[in-house]
Amino acid sequence: MKSRIAPFIFILFLLTALTGCAKKTEPVRREFFSMDTVMQVILYPDRDSDPAKMLDLAEQEVLRTDALLTSAMGTAERDSAAKILNDSELSALLNRALLISADTDGAFDPTVWPIVDAWGFYSGSHRIPKEDELSALLQTIGWEKARSAMNASDPDALPKLDLGAIGKGYAASTVKEKLHENGVTSAILSLGGNVSLLGSRPDGSDFTVGIRDPEDPAAYFATLSLSDKAVVTSGSYERSFEQDGVRYSHIIDPKTGHPVDNSLLSVTVVADDDILADALSTALFVMGPDGAAQFYQSGLYDFDMILMEKDRSVTITQGLKNCFETAETLKGILK
Ligand code: ADP
Ligand code: MG
Repeated sequence: MKSRIAPFIFILFLLTALTGCAKKTEPVRREFFSMDTVMQVILYPDRDSDPAKMLDLAEQEVLRTDALLTSAMGTAERDSAAKILNDSELSALLNRALLISADTDGAFDPTVWPIVDAWGFYSGSHRIPKEDELSALLQTIGWEKARSAMNASDPDALPKLDLGAIGKGYAASTVKEKLHENGVTSAILSLGGNVSLLGSRPDGSDFTVGIRDPEDPAAYFATLSLSDKAVVTSGSYERSFEQDGVRYSHIIDPKTGHPVDNSLLSVTVVADDDILADALSTALFVMGPDGAAQFYQSGLYDFDMILMEKDRSVTITQGLKNCFETAETLKGILK
């Protein structure tokens, strides 16, 4: 008897193994340059979709949003400002941005363009502006001015805009929407430091996302296991410059006109919403560790965060407790 059953069992095992193989989809990936940084799209195609077509779709969508946001950068001429106010996509995004400005008490402010420009972050010719230059520029900025211009549909009153702090988040949200509409259920978008997860791995398990070490951007200091989330990090290590031993971050405190200088090295935000995660990572960096903790505990928005400080201590929020791993000292878990 035994000898007759054995071959059947073997065939059954072989069949299971083969179907297992057939189900396993290999990811396809594409890397390209946009928004001044390297973008990577990795997707797990299902049997019906054409992987190359899906990658094209994602790349085209990133390039399209890049061009759209670039058209709104720093323009003050009446015609360009009128175009922003009349463009339904740009004005919706600006509205969203200004809501977040109000909710973060101006820590996130898309009107910081003149200040970012004065420090030379656009041209790359970095300089330290004089205090009187900064105070004059501070008079010209402020998210409330953009709010009034929008409410009055007055292009003459629209301040110069910088949507850079939500650009990658916005691109991630529209790319995910496009991929989802086309039947893609599993993808990772890595848009220059912003990671956005569409669904989970094809087998239903979580993706692993590495959190870049702000002091060694080639390494990671932590990992998160997640599905369907945006994971966005803002840090002083990116695009900063150094003069006379002082490091100047590209993230500006809109109240002082100075680059942010607090105990934070980086802030990572985990949220369902890509735009919110991107805006908040910038805003919380401006707020500093205590302000960020207070903002989290206010419960105004649903998000989680990882704060890394200059002494390399790490603070996380309770939603990440079971999906976060690090070899660094955990200073606390915020509730
Ligand atoms: P990155 O784009 O480097 O990942 P962020 O998303 O934090 O980092 O965006 C930083 C960019 O946003 C800066 O380069 C600048 O153009 C703009 N910016 C700087 N400070 C602020 C601020 N307080 N609010 C909104 N935008 C800002
Ligand atoms: Mg941001």
